This record gives sequence, C-alpha cells and structure tokens, in this order.
Amino acid sequence: MIIDCHGHYTTEPGDLKRFREQQIKAVENRTAAPLRASLKISDDEIRDSLEGAQLKLQRERGTDLTIFSPRASGMGHHIGDESVSREWSQICNDLIYRVCMLYPENFVGVCQLPQSPGVPPKNSAAELERCVKELGFIACNLNPDPSGGYFNAPPLTDKSWYPFYEKMVELDVPAMIHVSGCCNPAMHTTGSYYLNADTMAFMQLILSDLFKDFPTLKLIIPHGGGAVPFHWGRFRGLALNNGRPELVEIIKNNIFFDTCVYHQPGIDLLTEVVPVDNILFASEMVGAVKGIDPKTGFNFDDTRRYVEAAPALGDADRRKIFEGNARRVFSRLKTTAAATAAV
Ligand SMILES: [Zn+2]
Repeated sequence: MIIDCHGHYTTEPGDLKRFREQQIKAVENRTAAPLRASLKISDDEIRDSLEGAQLKLQRERGTDLTIFSPRASGMGHHIGDESVSREWSQICNDLIYRVCMLYPENFVGVCQLPQSPGVPPKNSAAELERCVKELGFIACNLNPDPSGGYFNAPPLTDKSWYPFYEKMVELDVPAMIHVSGCCNPAMHTTGSYYLNADTMAFMQLILSDLFKDFPTLKLIIPHGGGAVPFHWGRFRGLALNNGRPELVEIIKNNIFFDTCVYHQPGIDLLTEVVPVDNILFASEMVGAVKGIDPKTGFNFDDTRRYVEAAPALGDADRRKIFEGNARRVFSRLKTTAAATAAV
C-alpha cells in the first residue's frame, strides 16, 4: 500500500469559491456574511472534481490512499477575524468529510484550523476535536504564521501553543506545519513562503524543549523540510553549539519530513541525510507545481518515481516511506476504512 500523506482539495467545486469570495467581500465592506446554507455542492460535483484529477492520478501512479485536507493556500487565516476563520474552516472541513465519505478507500481527512492573527491557538482545539471525533479525521494542518507572510506570531515553541498541543496529544493526532496563501508581495506563496516557513519551523523546534514537554507530539514538516536537508550541517552545528543533541536524536520520534521535492537529486539528498524512519511519502498533488518536466517526461509532482529510484534506499526502507512510517505517525489511520481496505 502506498499512502500519500499530503494532498489538498485544490479542485473544489465552484460554489465553494463563490462563497469564499462573498465572505471576503463581506469582511471588506463590513456587510452581512453569506449564509452557509447558500452553499450548493452536490455529490456529483464532488465526484466530478476528483475523478479527473486526484483519483485519476492515484490510479495512474499506483498510490492507494491520500491523506487529504482543504486547499492550504485557501485557508487565509489573515482574512477577517476569528469568527470568519471558524466559519470558513468548518465549511472546508465538512467538504473534506464528504469527499472521505464518497471515497472512503481513497481519502482520509485532515482538518484546517480556525486560526486568526493574535488569537490564542487554544481556540482551535474545539474544531480539531470536532473533526477527529465527529468526522473521523486523523491530523490537522497547523499554520505557524497566520499573518499570511509577515512572521509576527510567537514561535511554535511558545507556551501559548501548549494547550493546543495538549489537545493534539490527547486525541493522538499529528500536525503538518503548513502556511497558507501569502499576502506579503516579497514572497511567492508556494515557491518561497512555504519553504521559508518550513525552514523557520525546524530551527524553532531544534533549539527548544518542546519535545521534552510533549514526548509524543508529532509534527510533519512538508516540502521535504524546506531547506533543512540541504543545510543539515548548518542546523546540526547550531544545535550542537547550543548544547543540544544530534539532530537525529532531536527529530527521532517527533519531527518528520515529506517527499514533496520535485526532482531526483533532491530526493537523493533527503534520503541520504534524513533517517528513513523520519520520511513520509507525499506528492502534494494536485498542487504547487503542475505540469510535466521536459527533461524527464513525467510530472514534477510524480514523486513516487524519485523514491523508487533513490540509491540510498533498500526495499525495506521504501516500504517504511510508502506506508509503515505513515501508519506510525498517523496513529488514528488504523481506525479508518481506508487503512484496512487495501492492506
Ligand atoms: Zn500542501
């Protein structure tokens, strides 16, 4: 079985976009927000949105299950206030739930959190609990920068996060550290903002006592860990110079990287540098980089090929990356229909 731990619903039916545009307009104009009941999305529209996209690619690429969340760049935590963010997050999460109900063997849900700048992270705990207990979701996307590109929130190691981490540990769910769309014109959303945030998160974590306080807290840094594998020596040196253990010890049970790296040398480096137990297969399709690499003739985000070809990996290593590690990190996966169907 091949589990893709990083997919977003980027092909959502049009009425979701219409609702969001009206919601944003209402925020800007200080007028009444659109009613949730005005959303009209049929099961057939959901099927149509997936059959020619994520499901087609799963079949073509031979992957089985996608751990699936709302469009990350659409979370837009910087837009409006906490109530706007909560309404939007619940709508997006409920739509993911419908996807998972229609295709229980292909998708398992991950929730968007109703974060908002300056609002304590603990306020997101209720939506996480709803999604895990009522919708059967197995993880959340956690935004380290709800400002949308200005990096003015406390670090992930700040005590203000602790009540939220307590809820994650209680529910036994990991979080993928994932920013949203960027409103800072100096940064491209998927090209620089995402990778900057990934790299920032790692540095915050390795100099902290967070995992002493939460030994079972599991965080996934996507996009191959941003710049981390390439600059492993820098991070390792900084950790040691600050009296911290070796990076492999720090990350061991708590920090994981995905394989959303879109070329062979990048995956070769990742798998040489980062312990195999800390790597999770992912493609982020249909997502950040669409289209075919003219040098290889294959899609940039067809990441299975790179993992298959990585010289550092044996068969047992690949099985860990494709399936075993995901089952360990996403502990609640075992309770889902998808996990048992394809074993
Ligand atoms: Zn993503």
